[in-house]
Amino acid sequence: MIAIRQLSKSFGSLEVLKGIDLIFDKPGCVTAVLGPNGSGKTTLIKALLGLVIPDGGIIEVDRQNVRGQWDYRARISYLPQAARFPENLTVRELIDFVKNIRRGQQSQEERFIRLFDLEPHLDKRLGNLSGGTRQKVNIALALMYDCPLWILDEPTNGLDPLAMVHFRELVQEARAQGKIVLITTHIMSLVEEIANEVVFLLEGKIHFQGTIQALKTQHNQQSVERAIASILSGGASFSANGHSAQVQQLALSM
Ligand code: ADP
Ligand code: MG
Repeated sequence: MIAIRQLSKSFGSLEVLKGIDLIFDKPGCVTAVLGPNGSGKTTLIKALLGLVIPDGGIIEVDRQNVRGQWDYRARISYLPQAARFPENLTVRELIDFVKNIRRGQQSQEERFIRLFDLEPHLDKRLGNLSGGTRQKVNIALALMYDCPLWILDEPTNGLDPLAMVHFRELVQEARAQGKIVLITTHIMSLVEEIANEVVFLLEGKIHFQGTIQALKTQHNQQSVERAIASILSGGASFSANGHSAQVQQLALSM
């Protein structure tokens, strides 16, 4: 389980996270972390991994404060938004490199190589791969170890339709296995299909947290996409805050 209390983070004068409280403790629950570009999704995720040091607040994974710790990361399958590896490594070398770091743990790389049809690319250098193939490699690296927590930052970027189908199946499988999954994406139809719950970040705060159904009901909309659009265009629940002009600006950047 993950518990976040009063998490705050600024970069210079930019307050990105302003006291975030979140708990992810339901096995088999997929939570979509949504919000416009720059709303702090990646910063939140990096803080969970210890890659961003918060200014304030506490993060616990399995009831242990993660500050200064690293062992807990072995229980997390993490897909960074912008994974960067040396461009001159081949796919096979990169997979072997990761296996070397996680020595002793059972890896399922063959399954992922087959699933995402990576065999023809194994001896290519990373710098020569298309964006979509690179993302398939990143997903394989993130998921080839069996971890109870999945944290995936924009996993669907660049995936072709067949890879999307496989990715959806992987998330459904994780759900059935009782994993706790956090995912960011801009594809609302995917959220509708694979997520149980939504966290919507806006201006450094949580603007909505709840089930997909609650999101739709609260905004009186049939789809997640429309409910989010309603929030961003200053729908009834938001205009009360008097921020609607700013929010309309944000809607344009989503
Ligand atoms: P999201 O993932 O929701 O698009 P991010 O968490 O990446 O948003 O970024 C939130 C804000 O923090 C953005 O304005 C971004 O430019 C800024 N930011 C992120 N990382 C850094 C950093 N290391 N230094 C300065 N600003 C940063
Ligand atoms: Mg991001």
